[in-house]
Amino acid sequence: MLAEISSKPVRCLVNTHYHFDHVGGNAVIGRGATIIAHENCKKTMTANLKPEETPEGVGLPQETYENEKIVKIGEIAIGLLHLGPAHTSGDTIVVIESEKVVVAGDTFFNGMPPYIDVKNGSDTANWVTLIGKLAEKYPDYKERAAKTRSRLSSSTSSRTSRTTII
Ligand SMILES: [Zn+2]
Repeated sequence: MLAEISSKPVRCLVNTHYHFDHVGGNAVIGRGATIIAHENCKKTMTANLKPEETPEGVGLPQETYENEKIVKIGEIAIGLLHLGPAHTSGDTIVVIESEKVVVAGDTFFNGMPPYIDVKNGSDTANWVTLIGKLAEKYPDYKERAAKTRSRLSSSTSSRTSRTTII
């Protein structure tokens, strides 16, 4: 699947939260890449994953942030936002304003509420607030992931000689 997007190696991998279906490929896809996540995501991964799932910390995020982080891929700024606990305690919302794209991870399911991970610090009231903030701040953003992937992977600067996966 990645080869359909780009033949370049992955340089940056963003984990939107700690659930295994979102971080289970870190050790393979993220090998050689910088893995970035909210600080609570890394804490929860460390607490929940078995040592054999992360031998010597392989697959754990190397970079974390508290409230907001900007990652630059060539000319494209990718915003990582933590708007408080919602689906989990360490959700990241990825915003690519130049492309009008928001990647909400599992905080948003079309037509149904997401699983609320109470055991790991989720917050239903803040989840409602978070969805309202996203709808208010990014009302005209649309699903354009394929176009964005293509643009990110076709950049030619030395900093963008690899692919970013979100
Ligand atoms: Zn999830």
